[in-house]
Amino acid sequence: MLQNKVALVTGAGSGIGRALAKIYAREGAKVVVSDLHDADGMRTVEEVKAGGGDAIFVHADVTKIRDAENLVEQAIKHYGRLDVACNNAGIAGTSARTADYLPESWQTVIQTNLTAVFYGMQQQIKAMLATGGGSIVNISSILGAVGFAMSPAYTASKHGVVGLTKVAALEYGAQGIRVNSVGPAFIHTPMISHIEHNIETFGAVLAAHPMGRIGKPEEVAELVAWLSSERASFVTGAYYPVDGGYLAR
Ligand code: NAP
Repeated sequence: MLQNKVALVTGAGSGIGRALAKIYAREGAKVVVSDLHDADGMRTVEEVKAGGGDAIFVHADVTKIRDAENLVEQAIKHYGRLDVACNNAGIAGTSARTADYLPESWQTVIQTNLTAVFYGMQQQIKAMLATGGGSIVNISSILGAVGFAMSPAYTASKHGVVGLTKVAALEYGAQGIRVNSVGPAFIHTPMISHIEHNIETFGAVLAAHPMGRIGKPEEVAELVAWLSSERASFVTGAYYPVDGGYLAR
């Protein structure tokens, strides 16, 4: 349970982040919902409130240090502390083989999926140290563990998130901050809607999941909520797949 906890989620105007904001609220947390898109984030807040929860929206582009600072400042201003953070915002980026991958696309993906997690954790850790601890979950991917042709930047960024998570866990474990990463396989969200609409490609995607289906945002969010809570009190520095068996092959 997350009763009396304050939890922050980036990229919470859509997909996994929205599902997580609602599950955090169900577990009793006050939720700081953040996204690039204000209307989408506000809709998440409305859905949390409709379920009886407590949430505020704070606009943040996670690639900007100032936004990462403001996000944590607003959490403390409104709710007095920060106990839980999920660095979830991410982008898929373009598809091309490594030799053809555009350096601008590389920079954008690394900045959004990896550098922004570093910026976010810097602020979140400082806030958690001030109140004696907390839990951070970084959203990686199955592509934090294996490669995927045509996605060099995404794959590198998600491997980077797993490494960054381990370092922070080593550094702050003794001060009560647990840091873990989660590796979803393909999940039914707007991020992959173009893949779901391509019947040929989608067949291959389904076949790569031993369970014969892709996942739901809530199935990722349940794992993140567990890692965020005291039920996972001895779990840190870990990478947890939530993948319908994708990595078992
Ligand atoms: P989603 O539905 O696209 O939601 C992500 C949200 O983050 C969107 O609102 C997105 O806005 C926002 N965002 C993008 N860049 C941002 C920035 N710079 N600052 C703040 N917000 C930003 O995607 P999702 O599938 O829920 O993905 C959530 C996380 O799970 C990502 O880290 C993703 O890599 C990871 N993941 C997803 C899958 C999957 O199959 N869906 C699999 C493995 C891992 P835009 O719509 O403008 O991009």
